[in-house]
Amino acid sequence: MADIFDLMIIGGGPAGYTAALYGARAGLKVGLIEKLGPGGQMGTTDMVDNYPGFPEGINGFELAMKMKEGAGRFGAATISGEVTEVKLSGDVKAIATPKGAYQARTVILATGAQPRELGLQNERELRGKGVSYCATCDGMFYRNKTVAVVGGGNTAVADALYLSRICEKVYLIHRRDRLRAPQIQQETLEKAGNVEFVWDSQVKELVSEGRLTGLIVENKNTLERRELSCAGVFIAVGQVPETGLYRGQVELDQSGYVMAGEDCRTNIPGVFAAGDLRAKPLRQIVTAAADGAVAASAAQEYLDK
Ligand code: NAP
Repeated sequence: MADIFDLMIIGGGPAGYTAALYGARAGLKVGLIEKLGPGGQMGTTDMVDNYPGFPEGINGFELAMKMKEGAGRFGAATISGEVTEVKLSGDVKAIATPKGAYQARTVILATGAQPRELGLQNERELRGKGVSYCATCDGMFYRNKTVAVVGGGNTAVADALYLSRICEKVYLIHRRDRLRAPQIQQETLEKAGNVEFVWDSQVKELVSEGRLTGLIVENKNTLERRELSCAGVFIAVGQVPETGLYRGQVELDQSGYVMAGEDCRTNIPGVFAAGDLRAKPLRQIVTAAADGAVAASAAQEYLDK
């Protein structure tokens, strides 16, 4: 039988790689399973401005690579694969991927969150054909075209700003009359000169001819509907946690976030939650990284006992 890991981390975002760094530095035998590449949502962020230590900002993927290298320097092993099943009870936990099964005495769940869909009829069908959830991944396909961003949070604002540099025009469609993101962000967008705010409005239909050609938006006050012609729409209306794998084992809240406090302990001994999948008030790279450190040190304490 293969060696048992002291600590297995599921998810290679800032929470996962910080946990790997702390665990490996503490002398634990650490594995980290990541699905695509390092960074999670951070890895698809163009510019990270609010992670301390980078006064000029840093590209999200570059930061992810640095985090991975940092953990690797102390011996944390990265395993590529998608976890398909976990058995978290008992002293030895089992983690299955299509390529192999792993065992570990402690597990840190760090699978983060995924973009929320609008739930429109042809939204999934048009994914990759004008509908996107990642401006930094897909923005280049819309160079010099008109696009729309839906949402009013930090992601929507960052996406609209990024796209304003590439695209001819950007509509920012928000269901209220003020952004959730800080006011200063609105001023930055206004300065871009090619961003038009569409306030108090919801997207009702995705218009398409094989690919997206426009959106039908409805003003919630007047109920007036109009079509905005655009080649792409970037949906940035928040996230849903990636916790389906743990359902029925780990306690989740009503929205599916893992119920773990600031100590990152879940209801299962030896299982910890770190990052965006944990129920908490602020989801940022810095809070995910902090969770990773706390969870790894809690895992170490658990192993010491
Ligand atoms: P968010 O802050 O939850 O904002 C989601 C936005 O989408 C809100 O404006 C919300 O409207 C709107 N919305 C939600 N459901 C909708 C629907 N069905 N139809 C239309 N609009 C809908 O999500 P986020 O912007 O992805 O940010 C998630 C977390 O990451 C936040 O904590 C954020 O601060 C953080 N973040 C930080 C940075 C950064 O600081 N660099 C960058 C990205 C994200 P309402 O305002 O009306 O609720």
